[in-house]
Amino acid sequence: MPGATPYKAYSLNNFRDIPQMANLSDEIKFDIQVVGHVLPFKTNSFVIDHLIDWSNVPDDPLFILTFPQRGMLLPEHYDEMAALVKSGAKSSILKATANRIRMGLNPHPAGQVSHNVPTLEGDSLDGMQHKYRETVLFFPSNGQTCHAYCSFCFRWPQFVGMAELKFASKEVERLVVYLQANPQVTDVLFTGGDPMVMNARHLAAYIEPLLAADLPNLRHIRIGTKSLSFWPYRFLTDNDSDELLALFRKVSESGKHLALMAHFNHPRELAPEPVKQAIKAIRDTGAVIRTQSPLLAHINDDPALWTEMWNAQVDLGCVPYYMFVARDTGAQHYFAVPLIRAWEIFREAYQRVSGLGRTVRGPSMSANPGKVQVLGVSEVQGQKVMVLRFIQGRDPDWIHRPFFAKYDEQAAWLNDLKPAFGEPHFFFEAGLESFYRENLQTAHSEDYE
Ligand SMILES: *Cc1c(COP(=O)(O)O)cnc(C)c1O
Ligand code: SF4
Repeated sequence: MPGATPYKAYSLNNFRDIPQMANLSDEIKFDIQVVGHVLPFKTNSFVIDHLIDWSNVPDDPLFILTFPQRGMLLPEHYDEMAALVKSGAKSSILKATANRIRMGLNPHPAGQVSHNVPTLEGDSLDGMQHKYRETVLFFPSNGQTCHAYCSFCFRWPQFVGMAELKFASKEVERLVVYLQANPQVTDVLFTGGDPMVMNARHLAAYIEPLLAADLPNLRHIRIGTKSLSFWPYRFLTDNDSDELLALFRKVSESGKHLALMAHFNHPRELAPEPVKQAIKAIRDTGAVIRTQSPLLAHINDDPALWTEMWNAQVDLGCVPYYMFVARDTGAQHYFAVPLIRAWEIFREAYQRVSGLGRTVRGPSMSANPGKVQVLGVSEVQGQKVMVLRFIQGRDPDWIHRPFFAKYDEQAAWLNDLKPAFGEPHFFFEAGLESFYRENLQTAHSEDYE
């Protein structure tokens, strides 16, 4: 497409070169500097030229989406880092301080690292996670970065060089053997980072062996990506865009369902013409685009905006899939929306879309026992309670059983909730504990209290 913006990435080293930065105050630039030492920061020319409304900065939600904000650090952490930056501290000191602050930000929520790594003949398969019966997550080693970084992302430790937290695997052969040995698995979900940062040849090296192998159980290949928003040219004018679309077509023609799990956080991300063209190009290959986003203070905590976003997605032929609750990691204190408010926002937005948009589920917490949906607030025998259910669970028997928690307007995560009616435990806790016992060598029972 003529006129495509050339890809240029900006981070801590060069963000002052962004032309639009010239109009911003020194204070905002200093805050970016300070917070960007602790949390990952990368943005790019498309985000800058097509998504951010610069007349609305610093409050613009799309600015907040990729640029570090002062409020993302707790005041004491901010002050400590700011003093070091001001005094011109050595980079080794900045790094050590940043690492100490990061360790206090729950860098591996929901047992991400320890609980879900599958094994094959006794060896653990790094670069894979198998938490729910049907779906294996696969982290291709070439796909562990993104076209830009979302400031709320729970994968943030992977981007700041906390290397031991990186999931990576080149071992697609072992994935194939694992899938042969586990016929209950119907889905492989490629995730990252963003697997769409990979060139078409690398991606094919992961996907084609899955098509070539005899895997009748494998029905769905999913790719989690934010590239439609952050770099739609990936599907239009990059050197290998045609090759990439041909690969997608090959998956569909093989009889497997290819789903792009696309992240959109704000309706404005669907407006640029290249985004619409990229969606069309992908859909023309036979792939289905399903959409998901967390609910985030400062970015999208407004029901009208979700209605607009889901409507725009359905108009473009995408299928709304999940509204997530912001995870208990990183800058959660900045982005968190209490569960009851989250439910109100979901409900108000859901009421205003047609049935075609009501494929979306939420608000849902990806917590250690599973994906827990807040169904709402109700009253049972004169007591106000919160009603919840599992959409996904470590134990499939937990799924779709309503359960009750004490009404709590402040609660923002599953760990904050207490069982209703004076019960000592939620129904799934005994099962979760036996799961921990079976995984004793790696258990962190503090993940779920
Ligand atoms: C969400 C998620 C999946 C996919 O769940 P679906 O409900 O099938 O979309 C798989 N594994 C993990 C760890 C997840 O968090
Ligand atoms: S694109 Fe996805 S993985 Fe990358 S920073 Fe954003 S949410 Fe995280």
